Amino acid sequence: MNSKYEILIVGGGAAGFFTAINIAEKNPKLKIAILERGKTVLEKVRISGGGRCNVTHAEFIPKELAKNYPRGEKELLGPFHQFCSGDTIEWFANRGVELKIEDDGRMFPVSDSSQTIIDCFLNEVKRLKIDVLTSQSVQSIYQGNDYWKVETNHETFSCQKLIMTTGSNPKIWEMLEKLGHKIVSPVPSLFTFNIKDNRIKDLMGISAFAKVKVKGSKLEASGPLLITHWGMSGPGILRLSAWGANFLAEKKYQFTIQVNWLHETSFEDALEQLKELKQEHSKKIVSKKSPFDFPNRLWESITIASGIPLDVKWADISKKQLTALANQLTNAEFQVNGKSTFKEEFVTAGGIDLKEINFKTMESKLFPNLYFAGEIVNIDAITGGFNFQNAWTSGFVLANSLG
Ligand SMILES: Cc1cc2nc3c(=O)[nH]c(=O)nc-3n(C[C@H](O)[C@H](O)[C@H](O)COP(=O)(O)OP(=O)(O)OC[C@H]3O[C@@H](n4cnc5c(N)ncnc54)[C@H](O)[C@@H]3O)c2cc1C
Repeated sequence: MNSKYEILIVGGGAAGFFTAINIAEKNPKLKIAILERGKTVLEKVRISGGGRCNVTHAEFIPKELAKNYPRGEKELLGPFHQFCSGDTIEWFANRGVELKIEDDGRMFPVSDSSQTIIDCFLNEVKRLKIDVLTSQSVQSIYQGNDYWKVETNHETFSCQKLIMTTGSNPKIWEMLEKLGHKIVSPVPSLFTFNIKDNRIKDLMGISAFAKVKVKGSKLEASGPLLITHWGMSGPGILRLSAWGANFLAEKKYQFTIQVNWLHETSFEDALEQLKELKQEHSKKIVSKKSPFDFPNRLWESITIASGIPLDVKWADISKKQLTALANQLTNAEFQVNGKSTFKEEFVTAGGIDLKEINFKTMESKLFPNLYFAGEIVNIDAITGGFNFQNAWTSGFVLANSLG
Protein backbone atom coordinates (compact mmCIF):
# COMPACT_ATOMS: atom_id res chain seq x y z
CA MET A 1 0.00 0.00 0.00
CA ASN A 2 1.24 3.51 -0.76
CA SER A 3 -0.10 6.15 1.67
CA LYS A 4 0.20 9.68 0.33
CA TYR A 5 0.89 12.72 2.47
CA GLU A 6 1.93 16.24 1.70
CA ILE A 7 4.26 16.28 4.69
CA LEU A 8 5.90 13.29 6.36
CA ILE A 9 7.87 13.69 9.55
CA VAL A 10 10.12 10.79 10.51
CA GLY A 11 10.64 10.64 14.29
CA GLY A 12 8.03 11.19 17.00
CA GLY A 13 10.23 13.05 19.45
CA ALA A 14 10.42 16.66 20.62
CA ALA A 15 11.50 18.09 17.26
CA GLY A 16 9.06 15.96 15.23
CA PHE A 17 6.01 16.99 17.27
CA PHE A 18 6.95 20.65 17.51
CA THR A 19 7.56 20.85 13.77
CA ALA A 20 4.33 19.01 12.88
CA ILE A 21 2.17 21.17 15.16
CA ASN A 22 3.61 24.43 13.87
CA ILE A 23 3.23 23.39 10.22
CA ALA A 24 -0.38 22.30 10.76
CA GLU A 25 -1.26 25.55 12.52
CA LYS A 26 -0.05 27.58 9.58
CA ASN A 27 -1.40 25.17 6.94
CA PRO A 28 -4.53 23.50 8.31
CA LYS A 29 -5.34 21.85 4.98
CA LEU A 30 -2.08 19.94 4.58
CA LYS A 31 -2.12 16.20 5.13
CA ILE A 32 0.61 15.56 7.68
CA ALA A 33 1.85 12.38 9.40
CA ILE A 34 4.50 11.60 11.99
CA LEU A 35 6.15 8.18 11.57
CA GLU A 36 7.59 6.77 14.78
CA ARG A 37 9.44 3.47 15.04
CA GLY A 38 8.53 2.93 18.72
CA LYS A 39 5.21 1.84 20.15
CA THR A 40 5.01 5.14 22.00
CA VAL A 41 6.07 8.68 21.15
CA LEU A 42 8.00 11.39 23.00
CA GLU A 43 9.94 8.89 25.08
CA LYS A 44 12.90 11.20 25.65
CA VAL A 45 10.65 14.04 26.69
CA ARG A 46 9.13 11.71 29.26
CA ILE A 47 12.46 10.86 30.92
CA SER A 48 14.00 14.29 30.41
CA GLY A 49 15.17 16.44 33.29
CA GLY A 50 14.75 13.57 35.74
CA GLY A 51 11.08 13.25 34.71
CA ARG A 52 10.45 16.99 35.05
CA CYS A 53 11.48 18.08 31.51
CA ASN A 54 13.81 21.04 31.48
CA VAL A 55 11.99 22.73 28.59
CA THR A 56 14.26 25.72 28.05
CA HIS A 57 16.60 28.17 29.77
CA ALA A 58 15.91 31.69 31.00
CA GLU A 59 18.41 33.29 28.66
CA PHE A 60 16.50 35.60 26.38
CA ILE A 61 19.21 37.26 24.28
CA PRO A 62 19.90 35.27 21.08
CA LYS A 63 23.65 35.93 21.13
CA GLU A 64 23.98 34.89 24.78
CA LEU A 65 21.74 31.86 24.29
CA ALA A 66 23.82 30.69 21.31
CA LYS A 67 26.97 30.68 23.48
CA ASN A 68 25.68 27.53 25.19
CA TYR A 69 26.10 25.41 22.07
CA PRO A 70 29.59 23.94 21.57
CA ARG A 71 28.38 22.85 18.14
CA GLY A 72 25.92 25.21 16.45
CA GLU A 73 26.70 28.56 18.10
CA LYS A 74 27.13 30.43 14.82
CA GLU A 75 24.35 28.67 12.91
CA LEU A 76 21.70 29.09 15.62
CA LEU A 77 22.07 32.85 15.93
CA GLY A 78 19.73 33.60 13.00
CA PRO A 79 17.13 31.00 14.04
CA PHE A 80 17.16 32.34 17.63
CA HIS A 81 16.19 35.76 16.28
CA GLN A 82 13.09 34.04 14.89
CA PHE A 83 12.26 31.82 17.84
CA CYS A 84 14.05 32.26 21.18
CA SER A 85 13.44 30.99 24.71
CA GLY A 86 10.92 33.78 25.37
CA ASP A 87 8.90 32.49 22.42
CA THR A 88 9.04 28.98 23.88
CA ILE A 89 7.51 30.27 27.13
CA GLU A 90 4.78 32.05 25.18
CA TRP A 91 4.13 29.07 22.90
CA PHE A 92 3.48 26.77 25.84
CA ALA A 93 1.57 29.45 27.81
CA ASN A 94 -0.78 29.87 24.83
CA ARG A 95 -1.54 26.18 25.16
CA GLY A 96 -2.16 26.30 28.89
CA VAL A 97 1.32 25.18 30.04
CA GLU A 98 3.03 27.59 32.44
CA LEU A 99 6.79 27.33 32.88
CA LYS A 100 8.76 28.37 35.97
CA ILE A 101 12.37 29.50 36.36
CA GLU A 102 14.71 27.84 38.85
CA ASP A 103 17.62 29.66 40.54
CA ASP A 104 20.14 28.43 37.96
CA GLY A 105 17.98 29.57 35.01
CA ARG A 106 16.55 26.18 34.04
CA MET A 107 12.86 26.25 33.16
CA PHE A 108 10.37 23.48 33.94
CA PRO A 109 6.60 23.13 33.70
CA VAL A 110 4.97 24.39 36.91
CA SER A 111 3.61 20.86 37.36
CA ASP A 112 7.22 19.55 37.63
CA SER A 113 6.12 16.72 35.34
CA SER A 114 7.19 15.98 31.77
CA GLN A 115 3.75 14.45 31.24
CA THR A 116 2.36 18.02 31.04
CA ILE A 117 4.49 18.64 27.95
CA ILE A 118 3.55 15.28 26.43
CA ASP A 119 -0.17 15.91 27.05
CA CYS A 120 0.12 19.36 25.46
CA PHE A 121 1.67 17.87 22.29
CA LEU A 122 -0.80 14.98 22.10
CA ASN A 123 -3.77 17.34 22.46
CA GLU A 124 -2.39 19.57 19.75
CA VAL A 125 -1.83 16.79 17.18
CA LYS A 126 -5.38 15.59 17.86
CA ARG A 127 -6.86 19.07 17.47
CA LEU A 128 -4.89 19.66 14.26
CA LYS A 129 -5.67 16.21 12.85
CA ILE A 130 -2.06 15.17 12.38
CA ASP A 131 -1.68 11.41 11.92
CA VAL A 132 0.69 9.85 14.44
CA LEU A 133 1.68 6.41 13.14
CA THR A 134 3.64 4.32 15.64
CA SER A 135 5.60 1.07 15.08
CA GLN A 136 6.66 2.45 11.69
CA SER A 137 10.41 2.12 11.52
CA VAL A 138 11.74 3.88 8.46
CA GLN A 139 14.11 1.62 6.51
CA SER A 140 14.80 3.61 3.36
CA ILE A 141 14.03 6.87 1.62
CA TYR A 142 14.12 7.50 -2.12
CA GLN A 143 13.78 10.71 -4.09
CA GLY A 144 11.46 10.64 -7.11
CA ASN A 145 10.84 13.49 -9.56
CA ASP A 146 8.74 15.65 -7.28
CA TYR A 147 8.09 13.37 -4.35
CA TRP A 148 9.85 11.31 -1.67
CA LYS A 149 9.18 7.62 -1.17
CA VAL A 150 9.56 6.35 2.39
CA GLU A 151 9.61 2.67 3.25
CA THR A 152 8.98 1.47 6.77
CA ASN A 153 9.00 -2.09 8.12
CA HIS A 154 5.25 -2.24 7.35
CA GLU A 155 4.31 0.19 4.61
CA THR A 156 5.39 2.46 1.80
CA PHE A 157 4.57 6.16 2.00
CA SER A 158 5.04 9.03 -0.37
CA CYS A 159 5.15 12.75 0.34
CA GLN A 160 6.07 16.09 -1.19
CA LYS A 161 8.20 17.24 1.71
CA LEU A 162 10.17 14.91 3.95
CA ILE A 163 11.25 16.06 7.39
CA MET A 164 13.80 14.01 9.34
CA THR A 165 13.70 14.40 13.13
CA THR A 166 15.18 11.08 14.23
CA GLY A 167 17.60 12.50 16.81
CA SER A 168 20.89 10.64 17.21
CA ASN A 169 19.79 7.50 15.41
CA PRO A 170 22.85 5.86 13.78
CA LYS A 171 20.89 3.92 11.13
CA ILE A 172 19.24 7.05 9.79
CA TRP A 173 22.59 8.83 9.74
CA GLU A 174 24.03 5.93 7.74
CA MET A 175 21.09 6.12 5.36
CA LEU A 176 21.55 9.85 4.85
CA GLU A 177 25.27 9.34 4.36
CA LYS A 178 24.58 6.86 1.58
CA LEU A 179 22.22 9.40 0.05
CA GLY A 180 25.11 11.89 -0.10
CA HIS A 181 25.03 13.91 3.12
CA LYS A 182 28.15 14.32 5.23
CA ILE A 183 27.72 13.03 8.78
CA VAL A 184 30.06 14.35 11.47
CA SER A 185 31.02 11.26 13.51
CA PRO A 186 28.95 10.94 16.67
CA VAL A 187 30.59 11.09 20.11
CA PRO A 188 28.88 11.39 23.50
CA SER A 189 28.48 14.76 25.17
CA LEU A 190 27.32 15.66 28.70
CA PHE A 191 28.99 13.02 30.83
CA THR A 192 30.65 12.88 34.23
CA PHE A 193 34.29 11.99 34.93
CA ASN A 194 35.35 8.70 36.56
CA ILE A 195 38.09 9.37 39.10
CA LYS A 196 39.48 7.05 41.73
CA ASP A 197 41.46 9.12 44.20
CA ASN A 198 41.91 9.00 47.96
CA ARG A 199 41.37 12.75 48.21
CA ILE A 200 37.71 12.44 47.21
CA LYS A 201 37.05 8.85 48.26
CA ASP A 202 34.73 9.57 51.19
CA LEU A 203 33.39 12.92 50.06
CA MET A 204 30.39 11.82 47.99
CA GLY A 205 27.72 14.52 47.86
CA ILE A 206 30.07 17.42 48.61
CA SER A 207 29.87 20.37 46.24
CA ALA A 208 32.22 23.34 45.80
CA PHE A 209 32.48 26.17 43.29
CA ALA A 210 35.68 25.39 41.40
CA LYS A 211 37.56 26.02 38.19
CA VAL A 212 38.56 22.89 36.27
CA LYS A 213 41.06 22.65 33.41
CA VAL A 214 41.92 19.72 31.20
CA LYS A 215 45.72 19.46 31.28
CA GLY A 216 47.36 19.84 27.89
CA SER A 217 44.41 21.65 26.31
CA LYS A 218 42.65 25.00 26.40
CA LEU A 219 39.53 23.43 27.89
CA GLU A 220 38.39 24.97 31.16
CA ALA A 221 35.11 25.58 32.94
CA SER A 222 33.89 27.05 36.20
CA GLY A 223 30.89 26.14 38.28
CA PRO A 224 29.68 23.95 41.09
CA LEU A 225 31.69 20.71 41.16
CA LEU A 226 29.93 17.75 42.73
CA ILE A 227 31.86 14.80 44.15
CA THR A 228 30.06 11.57 43.34
CA HIS A 229 30.44 7.89 44.05
CA TRP A 230 32.36 7.49 40.77
CA GLY A 231 34.28 10.71 40.54
CA MET A 232 33.20 14.23 39.66
CA SER A 233 30.03 15.73 38.22
CA GLY A 234 28.15 19.05 38.45
CA PRO A 235 27.66 21.90 35.97
CA GLY A 236 31.40 22.68 35.65
CA ILE A 237 32.30 19.11 34.73
CA LEU A 238 29.33 18.70 32.37
CA ARG A 239 30.26 21.93 30.60
CA LEU A 240 33.80 20.58 30.10
CA SER A 241 32.41 17.31 28.74
CA ALA A 242 30.32 19.19 26.17
CA TRP A 243 33.00 21.61 24.98
CA GLY A 244 35.60 18.85 25.03
CA ALA A 245 33.38 16.10 23.55
CA ASN A 246 35.63 15.47 20.54
CA PHE A 247 38.98 16.06 22.26
CA LEU A 248 38.12 13.80 25.20
CA ALA A 249 36.85 11.08 22.86
CA GLU A 250 40.20 11.22 21.02
CA LYS A 251 41.92 10.79 24.40
CA LYS A 252 39.69 7.75 24.98
CA TYR A 253 38.54 9.44 28.18
CA GLN A 254 41.99 9.12 29.78
CA PHE A 255 43.23 12.56 30.80
CA THR A 256 44.30 14.73 33.73
CA ILE A 257 42.28 17.59 35.18
CA GLN A 258 43.56 20.47 37.31
CA VAL A 259 41.09 21.64 39.93
CA ASN A 260 41.29 25.07 41.52
CA TRP A 261 39.12 24.85 44.63
CA LEU A 262 39.59 28.60 45.10
CA HIS A 263 38.25 29.33 41.62
CA GLU A 264 40.21 32.30 40.24
CA THR A 265 42.79 32.62 43.06
CA SER A 266 46.36 32.03 41.87
CA PHE A 267 48.90 29.81 43.63
CA GLU A 268 50.84 32.90 44.79
CA ASP A 269 47.77 34.63 46.23
CA ALA A 270 46.70 31.41 47.94
CA LEU A 271 50.15 31.11 49.53
CA GLU A 272 49.93 34.70 50.83
CA GLN A 273 46.48 34.00 52.29
CA LEU A 274 47.80 30.85 53.99
CA LYS A 275 50.71 32.79 55.51
CA GLU A 276 48.23 35.29 56.95
CA LEU A 277 46.10 32.45 58.33
CA LYS A 278 49.22 30.98 59.95
CA GLN A 279 49.78 34.27 61.81
CA GLU A 280 46.14 34.91 62.73
CA HIS A 281 45.20 31.40 63.85
CA SER A 282 48.55 30.18 65.13
CA LYS A 283 47.05 28.34 68.11
CA LYS A 284 44.25 26.64 66.18
CA ILE A 285 44.35 23.20 64.58
CA VAL A 286 44.66 23.53 60.80
CA SER A 287 42.40 20.69 59.70
CA LYS A 288 39.54 21.56 62.10
CA LYS A 289 37.80 24.36 60.22
CA SER A 290 37.80 25.32 56.56
CA PRO A 291 38.98 28.93 56.19
CA PHE A 292 37.58 28.94 52.65
CA ASP A 293 34.12 28.83 51.19
CA PHE A 294 33.84 25.05 50.93
CA PRO A 295 32.89 22.27 53.36
CA ASN A 296 35.12 21.23 56.27
CA ARG A 297 35.38 17.64 55.04
CA LEU A 298 36.90 18.76 51.76
CA TRP A 299 39.31 21.05 53.63
CA GLU A 300 40.37 18.18 55.89
CA SER A 301 41.07 16.00 52.86
CA ILE A 302 43.10 18.77 51.20
CA THR A 303 45.22 19.26 54.33
CA ILE A 304 45.93 15.52 54.55
CA ALA A 305 46.91 15.49 50.85
CA SER A 306 49.32 18.34 51.62
CA GLY A 307 51.11 16.22 54.20
CA ILE A 308 49.67 18.06 57.22
CA PRO A 309 48.74 15.66 60.05
CA LEU A 310 45.24 16.13 61.51
CA ASP A 311 46.41 17.47 64.89
CA VAL A 312 48.90 20.08 63.70
CA LYS A 313 48.42 23.74 64.63
CA TRP A 314 48.80 26.60 62.14
CA ALA A 315 51.91 27.81 64.00
CA ASP A 316 53.59 24.47 63.41
CA ILE A 317 53.20 24.00 59.68
CA SER A 318 56.40 24.17 57.69
CA LYS A 319 57.08 26.28 54.60
CA LYS A 320 57.05 23.10 52.52
CA GLN A 321 53.63 22.11 53.88
CA LEU A 322 52.24 25.60 53.21
CA THR A 323 53.47 25.39 49.61
CA ALA A 324 51.94 21.93 49.21
CA LEU A 325 48.65 23.24 50.65
CA ALA A 326 48.56 26.20 48.24
CA ASN A 327 49.24 23.76 45.42
CA GLN A 328 46.49 21.33 46.47
CA LEU A 329 44.07 24.27 46.76
CA THR A 330 44.74 25.87 43.40
CA ASN A 331 46.19 23.17 41.19
CA ALA A 332 45.09 19.74 42.37
CA GLU A 333 45.66 17.19 39.63
CA PHE A 334 43.28 14.25 39.24
CA GLN A 335 43.57 11.42 36.73
CA VAL A 336 40.32 10.71 34.86
CA ASN A 337 39.79 7.10 33.75
CA GLY A 338 36.60 6.89 31.73
CA LYS A 339 33.21 8.55 31.88
CA SER A 340 29.70 7.88 33.20
CA THR A 341 26.32 8.86 31.82
CA PHE A 342 24.71 11.91 33.36
CA LYS A 343 21.24 10.51 33.97
CA GLU A 344 19.31 13.80 33.96
CA GLU A 345 20.30 14.69 30.41
CA PHE A 346 22.68 13.39 27.79
CA VAL A 347 23.12 14.03 24.11
CA THR A 348 25.28 13.03 21.20
CA ALA A 349 27.59 15.47 19.47
CA GLY A 350 27.76 14.87 15.72
CA GLY A 351 25.19 14.52 12.98
CA ILE A 352 24.41 16.15 9.65
CA ASP A 353 27.18 18.58 8.72
CA LEU A 354 25.97 22.12 9.40
CA LYS A 355 27.38 23.35 6.10
CA GLU A 356 24.84 21.23 4.24
CA ILE A 357 21.77 22.84 5.84
CA ASN A 358 20.10 26.16 5.04
CA PHE A 359 19.41 27.62 8.49
CA LYS A 360 16.75 29.99 7.15
CA THR A 361 14.56 27.01 6.23
CA MET A 362 16.26 23.90 7.74
CA GLU A 363 16.21 22.44 4.22
CA SER A 364 19.02 20.26 2.91
CA LYS A 365 21.29 22.18 0.56
CA LEU A 366 21.81 18.95 -1.41
CA PHE A 367 18.25 17.63 -1.78
CA PRO A 368 15.23 19.89 -2.29
CA ASN A 369 12.20 19.11 -0.11
CA LEU A 370 14.30 17.28 2.49
CA TYR A 371 14.42 18.98 5.89
CA PHE A 372 15.99 18.42 9.31
CA ALA A 373 15.22 19.54 12.87
CA GLY A 374 16.47 18.70 16.35
CA GLU A 375 19.37 16.53 17.38
CA ILE A 376 19.81 14.84 13.98
CA VAL A 377 21.96 17.83 12.92
CA ASN A 378 25.43 18.42 14.34
CA ILE A 379 24.15 20.71 17.11
CA ASP A 380 24.25 20.07 20.82
CA ALA A 381 24.39 22.11 23.97
CA ILE A 382 25.53 22.11 27.55
CA THR A 383 23.00 20.94 30.11
CA GLY A 384 20.19 23.28 31.19
CA GLY A 385 17.30 23.07 28.71
CA PHE A 386 19.30 24.21 25.66
CA ASN A 387 19.00 20.92 23.78
CA PHE A 388 15.22 21.13 23.74
CA GLN A 389 15.44 24.79 22.76
CA ASN A 390 17.32 23.66 19.66
CA ALA A 391 14.48 21.23 18.86
CA TRP A 392 11.83 23.97 19.32
CA THR A 393 13.75 26.61 17.37
CA SER A 394 14.69 24.42 14.42
CA GLY A 395 11.15 23.02 14.26
CA PHE A 396 9.64 26.50 14.30
CA VAL A 397 12.00 27.91 11.65
CA LEU A 398 11.27 24.93 9.41
CA ALA A 399 7.49 25.30 9.83
CA ASN A 400 7.67 29.03 9.27
CA SER A 401 9.56 28.56 6.01
CA LEU A 402 6.83 26.27 4.70
CA GLY A 403 4.08 28.65 5.82
C1 LIG B 1 17.85 11.01 29.85
C2 LIG B 1 17.80 12.28 29.04
C3 LIG B 1 17.32 13.44 29.63
C4 LIG B 1 17.30 14.63 28.90
N1 LIG B 1 16.82 15.78 29.51
C5 LIG B 1 16.81 16.95 28.83
C6 LIG B 1 16.28 18.12 29.43
O1 LIG B 1 15.73 18.11 30.53
N2 LIG B 1 16.36 19.28 28.70
C7 LIG B 1 16.91 19.35 27.44
O2 LIG B 1 16.95 20.41 26.85
N3 LIG B 1 17.38 18.21 26.85
C8 LIG B 1 17.33 17.03 27.50
N4 LIG B 1 17.80 15.90 26.89
C9 LIG B 1 18.21 15.99 25.49
C10 LIG B 1 16.93 15.98 24.64
O3 LIG B 1 16.10 14.94 25.10
C11 LIG B 1 17.24 15.79 23.16
O4 LIG B 1 18.13 16.77 22.73
C12 LIG B 1 15.94 15.89 22.37
O5 LIG B 1 15.04 14.87 22.78
C13 LIG B 1 16.17 15.78 20.87
O6 LIG B 1 14.92 15.76 20.25
P1 LIG B 1 14.74 15.09 18.82
O7 LIG B 1 13.27 15.14 18.54
O8 LIG B 1 15.69 15.71 17.88
O9 LIG B 1 15.21 13.59 19.01
P2 LIG B 1 14.55 12.44 19.88
O10 LIG B 1 13.87 12.99 21.07
O11 LIG B 1 15.64 11.44 20.11
O12 LIG B 1 13.44 11.81 18.94
C14 LIG B 1 13.75 11.05 17.80
C15 LIG B 1 12.62 10.09 17.52
O13 LIG B 1 12.84 9.46 16.27
C16 LIG B 1 12.50 8.11 16.39
N5 LIG B 1 13.19 7.33 15.34
C17 LIG B 1 14.51 7.07 15.27
N6 LIG B 1 14.77 6.31 14.18
C18 LIG B 1 13.60 6.12 13.54
C19 LIG B 1 13.23 5.42 12.36
N7 LIG B 1 14.11 4.77 11.61
N8 LIG B 1 11.92 5.43 11.99
C20 LIG B 1 11.00 6.10 12.73
N9 LIG B 1 11.31 6.75 13.86
C21 LIG B 1 12.59 6.77 14.27
C22 LIG B 1 12.94 7.74 17.80
O14 LIG B 1 12.31 6.57 18.25
C23 LIG B 1 12.52 8.97 18.56
O15 LIG B 1 11.20 8.91 19.03
C24 LIG B 1 17.79 14.68 27.58
C25 LIG B 1 18.26 13.51 26.99
C26 LIG B 1 18.25 12.32 27.69
C27 LIG B 1 18.74 11.08 27.03
